[in-house]
Amino acid sequence: MKQTVAEQIHDLQKKLTEYAYAYYVKDQPVVDDAYYDQLYQQLVALETAHPEYQTSDSPTQRVGGVVRKGFEKVVHEIPLYSLNDVFSKAEIIAFDQRVQKTLGHAVSYICELKIDGLSISLKYENGRLVRGATRGDGTIGENITDNSKTVKSIPLTLTEPIDIEVRGECYMPKASFIQLNQKREEEGLDIFANPRNAAAGSIRQLDSKVTASRNLSTFLYTLADFGPLHVTNQAEALTHLDDLGFRTNQERAVCSTIDDVWAYIESFHDKRSQLPYEIDGVVIKVNDFSDQNQLGFTVKAPRWAVAYKFPPEEAQTTIEEIEWTVGRTGVVTPTAVMTPVRVAGTTVARASLHNADYIKMKDIRLHDQVVIYKAGDIIPEVAHVIEEARDSASQPYTIPTNCPVCGSELVHLDEEVALRCINPKCPALLKEGISHFVSRDAMNIEGIGPRMIEQFFNHGFVEDVADLYRLTLDQLLTIDKVKEKSATNMLQAIEASKQNSLEKLLFGLGIRHVGVKAAKLLAERFETLTQLSQATVEEILTVATIGPTIADSLVTYFANEEVHELMTELKAAGVNETYLGLKSQDVAEIESAFQGKTVVLTGKLQTYTRDQAKKRIEELGGTITGSVSKKTDLVIAGADAGSKLTKAQALDIPVWTEEEMIAALESKQNE
Ligand code: AMP
Ligand code: ZN
Repeated sequence: MKQTVAEQIHDLQKKLTEYAYAYYVKDQPVVDDAYYDQLYQQLVALETAHPEYQTSDSPTQRVGGVVRKGFEKVVHEIPLYSLNDVFSKAEIIAFDQRVQKTLGHAVSYICELKIDGLSISLKYENGRLVRGATRGDGTIGENITDNSKTVKSIPLTLTEPIDIEVRGECYMPKASFIQLNQKREEEGLDIFANPRNAAAGSIRQLDSKVTASRNLSTFLYTLADFGPLHVTNQAEALTHLDDLGFRTNQERAVCSTIDDVWAYIESFHDKRSQLPYEIDGVVIKVNDFSDQNQLGFTVKAPRWAVAYKFPPEEAQTTIEEIEWTVGRTGVVTPTAVMTPVRVAGTTVARASLHNADYIKMKDIRLHDQVVIYKAGDIIPEVAHVIEEARDSASQPYTIPTNCPVCGSELVHLDEEVALRCINPKCPALLKEGISHFVSRDAMNIEGIGPRMIEQFFNHGFVEDVADLYRLTLDQLLTIDKVKEKSATNMLQAIEASKQNSLEKLLFGLGIRHVGVKAAKLLAERFETLTQLSQATVEEILTVATIGPTIADSLVTYFANEEVHELMTELKAAGVNETYLGLKSQDVAEIESAFQGKTVVLTGKLQTYTRDQAKKRIEELGGTITGSVSKKTDLVIAGADAGSKLTKAQALDIPVWTEEEMIAALESKQNE
């Protein structure tokens, strides 16, 4: 059953589209990330070798690449509406009374969460995405087609070949927002104030690869014109959007009374902070379309809906001190130390002030009274200073000019807002670098944390990561409170790390912009650190999803003489520099055990449950059916198998034991 290249490509495109739909639209992944990545790399390789089979809706087309000079304008023939805000139950009751007065009867409402992102509009022709646009002022927006294709929850093809224009919210999940800001802060860049700004900034990137890297998601909730759908109310419309392949928000509820509406709103006062995305309220819409039509619009907003806005969760406190710390890349970051105060369920005593410009812009001073809130519902931020509460003797805060650790002069690099210590021997940098090296996603050396590293430094045992491999038991025992047992454990953990696969070492080196994912892709492609160190920018750019920033950073890093010394020392210490993981090419072979086969499970399985076995086999390209026929390729028989086994034997169909199945499954799992 050998597939042609065209079939293989088509098959991979179809599978990856399905897996991505399950992951990004349904939030119910059916395969693990590593497996997805492997199939993806396989598809990239095949499509690169046979570009004639690449299609515009292939999952590989979501990585972006087009760089624009500016955005074209888009005219929304049917404008995107805004919403009237309300802030209390009384205002909601008044809204309901207006609705009832106009219509002359009571109505059902549908409550939807008010997602804090930006409005977008997606146009499909014949079921294919042809245009993405921002809301702009409601009538004129910007063409963001290339960028919208990189948002994985936006279907490139619908389940029906129809012409529609769908509208909804594009947002950045809280976790992605927090990660993005953390990364930007480490890199010395300006941070986004909240997920909404981050989403807006990300969708409006001229380079669509940047948008692709930002983990945006969407909830769609309306159509420009419902004509083609034949639905009569908003609840049905949302279900229909689900069926077409869009991601809609599942928290919606139809309420027949205002008390129910209020109960829905109240339930989110608490649940709000647990949602993976930020909301700023609840939208209450008249459910029935004929009622909506009768109510109509004011100049800018529908009369059939209002947005209830949650009160802001803020608190007031005092800035006691501003601390400056040096990060791994030399960026010096200020943190406000504040009188502890409760905000949105937790006690807050510290907040990052990000950079010197931020302090100046907000004019934050020592002993100021400030209002704080949580960005992305998690990260405490200073909203603003209460100037009226300021002492008349108060002076603007003086930004330090020297490194708080080594004392060398701080600098501003081009395009950065951050202050940096650029002394390569700054102990803060070295220590942070080692902490990163031993961390879990890097070399995973357990038992050695920042405090221990501090001790290594103070004793003069360690200056760079290669020194870790020279530590001796005698040295460790001279450290206060370190006993023989923990010292031996540390040495064992260090020893064990020598066997790590290349990607862990590569990530551990802390090369700018090289994250876990990039490290994996690079390790897989270049196989050894030495080969990667000799690669050119062009060669590195052939790795899918690796862009010029990472490529330049790597080449610059490996051009450094000291890096080569470090590599030599690590090699001499016996640290493995080779990629030990599974290669994408190997997947095809391992996969073939179940690929394209119709499999029947029978009898009692011991190790796996039926469902687990089914799931794994399906992940590996097999189909599970319930009964044995001539079409069955393989029967897996557990204990006490009955008639199905007999039938398989009669039809001469291969029969495997559970052990044989496990062997085939796990050859795949040992990736
Ligand atoms: P505002 O920006 O406060 O005028 O609120 C209107 C905006 O709320 C719309 O432009 C949408 O971007 C946004 N919004 C978020 N979630 C929803 C929703 N479920 N239904 C309608 N609008 C929503
Ligand atoms: Zn320093």
